[in-house]
Amino acid sequence: MVDFDNLPFGKVFTDHMLICEYKDGNWGEPEILPYGPIPMTPALHALHYGQAVFEGMKAYRKVDGTVSIFRPEANFNRLNRSAERMTIPTVPKEIFMDGLVELIKLDYDWVPFGENLSLYIRPFLYASSEFIAARPSDSYVFCILLSPSGPYYSGSVKVKIEERYVRSADGGVGFAKAAGNYGAAFYPTRLAQQEGYTQIIWTDHKNHHLIEESGTMNIAVVIDGVFRTPALSERILAGITRDSILTLLNDQNFPIKEGPITVDELVTAAREKRVSEMFGMGTAAVISPISHLGFRDEVIEIPTPDNGLSALVKKSLTDIRLGKVEDTFGWMYDIEKPVQHPTYS
Ligand SMILES: *Cc1c(COP(=O)(O)O)cnc(C)c1O
Repeated sequence: MVDFDNLPFGKVFTDHMLICEYKDGNWGEPEILPYGPIPMTPALHALHYGQAVFEGMKAYRKVDGTVSIFRPEANFNRLNRSAERMTIPTVPKEIFMDGLVELIKLDYDWVPFGENLSLYIRPFLYASSEFIAARPSDSYVFCILLSPSGPYYSGSVKVKIEERYVRSADGGVGFAKAAGNYGAAFYPTRLAQQEGYTQIIWTDHKNHHLIEESGTMNIAVVIDGVFRTPALSERILAGITRDSILTLLNDQNFPIKEGPITVDELVTAAREKRVSEMFGMGTAAVISPISHLGFRDEVIEIPTPDNGLSALVKKSLTDIRLGKVEDTFGWMYDIEKPVQHPTYS
């Protein structure tokens, strides 16, 4: 039994999944199957060489009871950008969008009702050939899983400015949602956790002078009343939450600066209490407030106001997602309510 009042994040899956195979240079017919194990060879290419990419997005139950997905086309485009970098064949739009819609229609009743609840959608692509040789796979699988989910993090996070390990570099795969990026981040994150932190703030690979991302989220900091976030680059994942927040703030004429934030500038501003808020931005947690900034031996407290900018932005996003206000940016992709066949008369 699924306890919808205490949903964890990403641990409960719906009844169905979408699978589509790529073989001999072509994508086959997508199939919707009962959720369950996928037969697999131990020589599965993705396991050995990490040719795998994924996406994360959410469908919401609006206040009128209907279901909509938040900006799925942006995730579709990004999945294919990640795929190209990893020499994985891109997924045709019809397979992605039509498959997604059919799958959600089938599992419509799984989309939870409630402010902090959503249906997390995990599309992914992996190399499925059975051979052991370090060259691109010949066959691939595209799959979509659905997971009704509760909040990702609970509470605010304590972050450490990382000055030894890196998650990305110029010419690397940091902009792609490539599976291995996450596996590689676990070790430095674990070290930070052993020091009492929740998460890492990644800095640039060259000399660790620039703030880049917060764990698996884009980072925002309000310094002297200006919303600051690093500009996108090859080293930074182009978050859809980041983009949506920038769009909302621009629309409200809030002062924004997209560009370099140096470690020095951030630490100095935080010490001088000129940082009014700092948070991570991403689909899973939406906004993850940062309460402590660790730099070397110093831990600086950061305010986490209940009625600050992050709360305002979160409310604006929630209102759009739940259909409480007009979707002026055209972000919500409505799923037609499936016809209910009565099981008894
Ligand atoms: C997925 C991800 C984000 C956030 O992207 P969203 O589209 O907002 O979910 C940010 N950084 C990294 C490294 C990510 O993997």
